[in-house]
Amino acid sequence: MKLPSSAVQLAPKFWSLVCHPHGIAVDATVGNGHDTLALARKMKYVYGFDIQREALKATQRRLEEAGLNNVNLILDSHGEMARYVPQGVDLVVFNLGYLPGSNKKIITRGETTVAGLEAGLGLLNRGGILTVCVYRGHPGAGEEEAMVDEFVGGLDQGECTVLSLSYPNQRHTPPKLYVIQKK
Ligand code: SAM
Repeated sequence: MKLPSSAVQLAPKFWSLVCHPHGIAVDATVGNGHDTLALARKMKYVYGFDIQREALKATQRRLEEAGLNNVNLILDSHGEMARYVPQGVDLVVFNLGYLPGSNKKIITRGETTVAGLEAGLGLLNRGGILTVCVYRGHPGAGEEEAMVDEFVGGLDQGECTVLSLSYPNQRHTPPKLYVIQKK
């Protein structure tokens, strides 16, 4: 088996551990909808969050083209997800940073990201998985990375298994992946 050479490609390997046709997923950062579409194809129902209307519009189009109507796209911050999503989620996915091809100033921020992570973990079933892909190259990324790192490092070992995966021999600052499973 060839190992995925980026965190973005690696994350779906962990999603597949909990993806099934009766499952519920949350895409906390919908963006252009690639992840939302992949999840909608494998799960019964998906909740998707983004603070940019254009992101949700593009994703809605993508889902319609694929003939899928099992996604609730919500224009709000992932920090608010507990207001929209009932308890009992199998998978929560975060892909941080900015929307490719859009305004690079609209980025995920440490404080709201941590609020989203807390909310997502609160909704997860036992055995459920949360992944966070953290980009590290853009302005503001370092601060967010530090906050996410501190948050996941502080999670109770009795309640969650936490993995941190990086690519230490790659040039520049490749994204990092955190995988959290609720016990
Ligand atoms: N997963 C996406 C895909 O498959 O195309 C890419 C996501 S993009 C890297 C990050 C997205 O997070 C952007 O669309 C941005 O608008 C969104 N975002 C930023 N802050 C957010 C927040 N507080 N809540 C929800 N989405 C947010």
